[in-house]
Amino acid sequence: MSTYNVLLLDGIDPAGVKLLERTGAIVPIVHDRISREKLLELVPEADGIIVRSGTMIDKELIQKAARLRVVGRAGVGVDNVDIDAATERGILVMNSPGGSTTTTAEHAIAMLFAQARSIPQAYLSLKNGKWEKSRFKGTEITGKTLGVVGLGRIGSEVARKCQAMGMNVLAYDPFINPDTPLSSGLVLVSLGEIWEKADFITFHVPLTDETRNLVNSETIELMKDGVRLVNCSRGGIVNESDLLAALKSGKVGGAALDVFETEPNTTTPLLGQDNFIATPHLGASTVEAQRKVSEDICRQVSDFLLKKAVLGALNFPQLDAGQVEQYQHFVDLAGRMASFIGQISDGRIQSVALRYSGEVCEMNLNYLTSVVVQRLLSRTLREGVNLINAGYVARLRGIKVQQTSVDVPENYTNLITIEIRTDVETHRVAGTVFTDRLPRIVGVDGFSLEVVPRGHMIYFSNNDKPGVIGNIGTVLGQSNVNIAGMQLGRDQEGGRALALLLVDNAVGADVLQRLQKIDNILTAKAIKV
Ligand code: NAD
Repeated sequence: MSTYNVLLLDGIDPAGVKLLERTGAIVPIVHDRISREKLLELVPEADGIIVRSGTMIDKELIQKAARLRVVGRAGVGVDNVDIDAATERGILVMNSPGGSTTTTAEHAIAMLFAQARSIPQAYLSLKNGKWEKSRFKGTEITGKTLGVVGLGRIGSEVARKCQAMGMNVLAYDPFINPDTPLSSGLVLVSLGEIWEKADFITFHVPLTDETRNLVNSETIELMKDGVRLVNCSRGGIVNESDLLAALKSGKVGGAALDVFETEPNTTTPLLGQDNFIATPHLGASTVEAQRKVSEDICRQVSDFLLKKAVLGALNFPQLDAGQVEQYQHFVDLAGRMASFIGQISDGRIQSVALRYSGEVCEMNLNYLTSVVVQRLLSRTLREGVNLINAGYVARLRGIKVQQTSVDVPENYTNLITIEIRTDVETHRVAGTVFTDRLPRIVGVDGFSLEVVPRGHMIYFSNNDKPGVIGNIGTVLGQSNVNIAGMQLGRDQEGGRALALLLVDNAVGADVLQRLQKIDNILTAKAIKV
């Protein structure tokens, strides 16, 4: 059995290390602290690397990592991993965001309470020998309206828990289908309604072009006077100088930040405000979360190396363990169709359009698309195209890849159609799998036929004239090539026709030349699938 070396850096919790050891096939190499020089020395032998936020997995390191197949981040943020460089080299990058959900939700709620009752300020005052009862009169949260911006893992948990504590919860998330069943009493509203109605607002969104500076002087103006804000998601979502002004004027009654535009940050003027509290990015920092993210990422890395499962990947579609095996017949069909269409097409590929319908849609279609693109590209590129970087390599070469799907069957219970446009021609191949699970091509360039694409074939396009097929048979007979099967198609009598011959052995270039010289043959191509 082959074994894999996995480097565990940045003090990954031992629970995950034990999990890797138990596989018997993974050798964990733990370095809680390591110099850059030593790391560059070790990295060529690593099949996997697991980090937290400390170690930079940059281009230089990735280029030295000859065997590297996967980089795992125990936790969420992957600012320390050059995902583009990894993708370029076909290395999977994954994170384990689920492990810190409860912990971060609890932290946001702790910040809500802490600011509602001025707990940090009161503690500091007491520590300084003061007993200031009237200075720290707080506010209840029961019966108040909480606006949750971003209803993903953490936002949903905050919403549920705050509802249980008697808050009225409104949520805004433009990526959630309004028909999605939500926990009872939770209402999806517009962002405008959150600004207008919420007494407290908590943010649980990623940092994107849309969310950067989401809280600024203009949006603050739309909020209730005295509104209280919590941000335990990402720095940059709240504009800190606009927040400072609003805290000073009292428009914002209180704010609690766990994350800052730049970190670490011990000098922000916000810290001088009495109505401001903060923690140094502690959202995910609990014993339980560190153990959980370590176990999660180690399991993900091990499942990828040992079972080809892809969970939590940032540069590849999700694949449960066993999914490829379960749908192997579709993977096989897609791969053979790609190989076939690639070989009948002349010219430089400009676009690939894939359409999936029926049963095949149960599988991860992005994975199938990667299979097709990888198969097409690996015909012309010497090495280095794998399922992870296939999309990237296609983009790099200016190839447009399009994917559409319809769950309902179209003529067949399942159907995959691949259309390739090159700079000189366009081809279209359709394929399906029947109950015998054999891959079948059922259409080529609009001609219906039925062939199991396996072994050697010869593809002809010709004018539909008498004698063409007979002449093909003669040339092949004289060349000692046995025909195992034949499929013919034509658009109309005397029009264009297509022939696909299954042959027992490979045809040489000389035979192909003779075939091409037959009257009315337009193209003859040897194909091996
Ligand atoms: P998630 O992906 O499960 O949820 C994010 C949600 O935000 C999604 O539902 C998405 O639809 C929504 N969203 C995206 N753009 C939006 C927009 N413009 N407006 C409103 N909603 C939008 O992520 P999660 O695990 O819940 O994490 C939420 C945030 O918390 C992330 O930014 C994550 O990095 C951060 N986080 C911080 C800490 C910490 O230590 N403070 C720990 C864990 C996670």
